Amino acid sequence: MSGALTIREGDDMRHYLTILTAALAIVLIAGMPTAATTIADVKLRCPACGHKFKAGVIASTNNFGGQDRDFYSHASGFPPILIYPITCRRCLYSGYRDDFEIDELDDETRALLRSRLTLPENLPPPDDSTGLPAWARYDLIILSAEIRGLSLDYLIDAALCASWAVREDAAPAQPWGDHYWNCAVNYTDSMMKELSPEGQNRALRDVALARQLVPRLQSVPNGSRLCATLGVIILLRKHGELTEAMDLCRLVEPLVSHEDFMQFSDSMRVSNERERRYQQIALTYIEKSFGEIAPFEGPAGRLYLAGELCRRLERYDQALQYFRQAAQATAIPEGLDEWIVEQQALVTNILHKGTTPDEPPPKDHPPLD
Ligand SMILES: [Zn+2]
Repeated sequence: MSGALTIREGDDMRHYLTILTAALAIVLIAGMPTAATTIADVKLRCPACGHKFKAGVIASTNNFGGQDRDFYSHASGFPPILIYPITCRRCLYSGYRDDFEIDELDDETRALLRSRLTLPENLPPPDDSTGLPAWARYDLIILSAEIRGLSLDYLIDAALCASWAVREDAAPAQPWGDHYWNCAVNYTDSMMKELSPEGQNRALRDVALARQLVPRLQSVPNGSRLCATLGVIILLRKHGELTEAMDLCRLVEPLVSHEDFMQFSDSMRVSNERERRYQQIALTYIEKSFGEIAPFEGPAGRLYLAGELCRRLERYDQALQYFRQAAQATAIPEGLDEWIVEQQALVTNILHKGTTPDEPPPKDHPPLD
């Protein structure tokens, strides 16, 4: 069992119910053949308006891309999280495949859907089932599920998936062209080989590498500093480490024109705000679920996740409280115990220093190509 996306081939995958049963279990096997993400078309009928249409569903995928600290499992290759959510373009009713394979909804629910389903951020109406960005389809899944009275577990999952879909889609604007982007990726790739951070979880290795590189950026020669800085920002943004990614924008500013900088930093700001909006919604549902169980006696994974979402939302005091409660919970899944300790230490460090995580002392930077 692992995170949102489990490796299964040849059958349809129901991805919902991720964090509540799963917590984490990353098995990244060096040399294991990569299962490509494949998509199959299915015919669906909207249970809200009767519209019949074809939609792509995931037939196979993998989680070889590592797992972020908020349980998002990256696939190697195309991210299936961008495919799972389905929207009826006629009425905007949204869900996963299962949500379209149910009986026709009752009149009252259909009337509520008609009056309450609206597109986020004033997006234009979709012209086919994938005509909206994935995060917007998850937004509509949240609304549809609320109207249908689905469980908090479902809502938590959908809100997290919305934030993760933003993360997958969040490449910042690149007014400097492909050359710089390729150069940025080449830089972090070569530094990954050279510094080779420990561990098998690719996502954590990316973040560890970025944190190792941050203090070195000032010593990168002028001509290469933009590439190097962009490379580190891309790594951090890819894993939703938004505070640290935004903090690095200050290094980009003196290297580029004001206009280019504004285009770049605005695109970062918009996607950060969007990701955090859905993290906040997920956190609200999680906290509501604590109220329905007993205060702060939820499963360790959910307490940890509440802490991790607070950390990502820069509410460090609250994050620390949740991590402490998670550490005291019974039946902590294997692996999660380490993450609780590590994230607690990270947040404690931020609170004490008022800075981003501990960084190793700068060393002389090796020459770039
Ligand atoms: Zn419909």
